[in-house]
Amino acid sequence: MADPAAPATMEEETEVETFAFQAEIAQLMSLIINTFYSNKEIFLRELISNSSDALDKIRYQSLTDPSVLEANKDLQITLIPNKEDNTLTIIDTGVGMTKADLVNNLGTIARSGTRSFMEALQAGADISMIGQFGVGFYSAYLVAERVQVTTKHNDDEQYIWESSAGGSFTVRRDESGEEFPRGTKIVLYLKEDQNEYLEDRRIKEIVKKHSQFIGYPIHLQVQKEREKEISDDEAEEEEGEKKEEDEADGEAKKDDEPKIEEVDSDEEEEGDKKEDKKKKKKIKEKYTDVEELNKTKPLWTRNPDDITKEEYGEFYKSLTNDWEDHLAVKHFSVEGQLEFRALLFVPKRAPFDLFENRKVKNNIKLYVRRVFIMENAEDLIPEYLNFVKGVVDSEDLPLNISREMLQHNKILKVIRKNLVKKCLELFQELTEDAESFKTFYEQFGKNLKLGIHEDSQNRKKIADLLRYRSSASGEEMTSLKDYVSRMKENQTQIYYITGETHDQVSSSAFVERVTKRGFEVLYMVEPIDEYCVQQLKDYEGKTLVSVTKEGLELPEDEEEKKKFEEQKAKFEGLCKVMKDILDKKVEKVVVSKRLVSSPCCIVTSQYGWTANMERIMKAQALRDTSTMGYMAAKKQLEINPDHSIIETLRQKSDGDKNDKSVKDLVLLLFETSLMSSGFTLESPQSHANRIHRMIKLGLGIDDDEVPGAEEVPEELPPLEGGEGDDDRMEEVD
Ligand code: ADP
Repeated sequence: MADPAAPATMEEETEVETFAFQAEIAQLMSLIINTFYSNKEIFLRELISNSSDALDKIRYQSLTDPSVLEANKDLQITLIPNKEDNTLTIIDTGVGMTKADLVNNLGTIARSGTRSFMEALQAGADISMIGQFGVGFYSAYLVAERVQVTTKHNDDEQYIWESSAGGSFTVRRDESGEEFPRGTKIVLYLKEDQNEYLEDRRIKEIVKKHSQFIGYPIHLQVQKEREKEISDDEAEEEEGEKKEEDEADGEAKKDDEPKIEEVDSDEEEEGDKKEDKKKKKKIKEKYTDVEELNKTKPLWTRNPDDITKEEYGEFYKSLTNDWEDHLAVKHFSVEGQLEFRALLFVPKRAPFDLFENRKVKNNIKLYVRRVFIMENAEDLIPEYLNFVKGVVDSEDLPLNISREMLQHNKILKVIRKNLVKKCLELFQELTEDAESFKTFYEQFGKNLKLGIHEDSQNRKKIADLLRYRSSASGEEMTSLKDYVSRMKENQTQIYYITGETHDQVSSSAFVERVTKRGFEVLYMVEPIDEYCVQQLKDYEGKTLVSVTKEGLELPEDEEEKKKFEEQKAKFEGLCKVMKDILDKKVEKVVVSKRLVSSPCCIVTSQYGWTANMERIMKAQALRDTSTMGYMAAKKQLEINPDHSIIETLRQKSDGDKNDKSVKDLVLLLFETSLMSSGFTLESPQSHANRIHRMIKLGLGIDDDEVPGAEEVPEELPPLEGGEGDDDRMEEVD
C-alpha cells in the first residue's frame, strides 16, 4: 500500500494489490459470464439497488450524526452512458466502502447465498433471481468484460477495485486526483455486443421497469443537441474557448463543445437594416442534460383506489428484488391518536433462507414522514411474520430514532400490533381463494404454526388458518372449523396424531380404533406441529387429544363400559406378568380401548413427549439435552384384549407362569410395538436375535446347534426417565 503520508503524485508508482476471489464467487462469476442468458438488463436493477442501499446507510447514519453528510449532502444516483468509451457508469453518493469493505464485500468473503444461488440455477432458476441471494453485484458481468469500482468512505481514502473476472481482482489507492467526496462509482466496460445499454431509451425503459420506486433520484446524463444563433464575433470566441472546456463535471446542465456550422442568414433582409446588424450565424451545439428518471410519488402515500395491480407488483418487485409478483397485498392507513400508513406484501414463495441460522430479520422498511429510516426494523413485526414484506411510514416517530430507541418505543408497539392484525386479516382474506391459500399455506404454513407457539394473543385467529389432512379429508386439507362442523353428536374432543409421514400416521394402529368408531383424526406430520399443538390445546372449546397418548377416552355407551371392565379383570394377570418381564422399559401395562387389529401399542403419558417428539428431540439432542431426561416419552404398553395373540398369551401365562417362551414373546411384542408406534429401537441387534430364535423355532432347529447364539446381550438399555437415565445423557453429550 502506498504510504498515506507521502504526497500522491501522478508519477509515483501506485501499489496494486491482487486478490483471489473466494472459490465459490469465482465459480459464480464464470457461470454468469458463460451461461447463455438473454435477460441481461437486470444488472442495472441490481447495481441501482446496491446504490440505494448505500444511500440508505449514509442517510441512516446522518440521523444521529449529521456531520457524516458534510462531504456531500446530495443523496442521488447518476447514470452516465459513454458511447465513445463504450462504458456505462453508475455513481452514487452513498456510504461508500473502505478498503477493507472493498476486499471483503466484493470478493473474498464467502456468502451463503453464493452456493444457494448456483444450486438454484442448476435446479432451473433464472439468473434474474440473483438479488434475492445477496450476490447481485456480480450480475455486472452479464454485460461487462471489465468492472471498475471507485469508492470513497468517510473513514478511508479513495480506492479502486478492478476485475476482468478470471479468478482475481486488484485494489489500489486512487491517486488520479479526481475529486470524489463520498460514494461509489462503478464503471462497466461493456462487452462488444452489449452497447444497447448505452442508449438513453433503453436505460430509461429498464429503470422504469425495475427501479422506478427507488427512493432517491436517479439521474441520467443525456447528450443533446440544440441550435443556437450567435454573431460572428461570438462564433470566433467560442471556437477559441471550446478547447479549454472541462468535461469532468457532469452535474448540471452544461454546455460543451458547440459544433459550429455556417448557416446562411438574413440575406433576404432589407438593405438598410443590413448595416445595423452584424452577420448572424446559427450553430448546432451539443450539451449534456440531466433527466430524472424516477419521479413517482411513494406508492404508499397514494390512494389505494387509484393504484393498479401492476403498480403494486412493480413496487413489490423493486422493494424486494423478487422476480415474481406478490401473492397478496394490504395497503392501509391508521389515523387518530397515532398515524401511519403501511403497505404489506405476502410473497409467492418463502426465501431460500427463511429458517436458516435463526437470524431474526424481517422485511419491513421503516419510514418517518416519507424519509427512509431503516431496513429490517426489528420489533416492528414478530418473528413468525418475518416473511411479510413492506413499508411502514409513521407520522409520529422522531426522525432521528435509533434501533435501540425503537425497542422500547410505545408508538412502535402500537404499530406492531396493528401490523399483526392486518397481516392476519390479509391471510384470512386469502382463504377465500382456494388456490392462493394453498400456495400460501405450502410456503408459510410453518410460520403460522410458529405463530401459534409465539403469539398467544392471536392464537385463536391463527388457529383458524391452520390446515391438516385428516382421516376424512382425502387429498385435501381441512380447517379446524370444518373438522368441528363434522364432529359426531357425542364427540367432545378433536383427535389428532403426530408422526413423520402421512403414510405412517394414516396406517397407524392408534388411528384405527378411532376412525373405526366413526371419528375423524387430524394428521400432523411436520416437526413443528408438535410444538404448535402443545400450545394450541383447544379450539372452539374442544380439547385437542392425541390418539397416541394415555387417557384417550372415546365416547361410549353403558354396554361398552361394562364389557371393558370385564376385560380389564380378565387380563389383569397377563398385564402383571408382562410388566414384570418388561420391568423398567414401561411404566405400566394396561388393557386398551383403542386397538382393533394390532395386538398392542405403546402409548405415551399425557404430559410427556410423543414418539414423534422423541424422534425430533433426539435429532436435536446436541442442542439441548437438559429436557431429554424428564420429557422423554414415558411409555405405557396397551394390549388388545380382542386380539388372538394376546388371548393365547394370556392362556399360556395363566397355565405356566414360568413358561420360557412367554418372556421372549412379550419382549418381541414390546419391540414390535415400539417400532410400529414410531419409536426407534435402542438395540436392534437383540431384537434381531430374538426374531432369529423364533425363526429357528419355526423351522425346528435346535438352538444349541448354533455356537455363540447366546453371547449377544439381549437386554435393552434402560428407558429414558428411568434410573439408567444419567448414563444415556452422557452418551448424548
Ligand atoms: P448485497 O447487496 O445483496 O449484499 P451484492 O453482491 O450486490 O450483495 O453486494 C455486496 C456488498 O458490496 C454489499 O452488501 C455492500 O456492502 C457492498 N456494495 C455493493 N455495492 C455498493 C455500493 N454502491 N456502495 C457501497 N457498498 C456497496
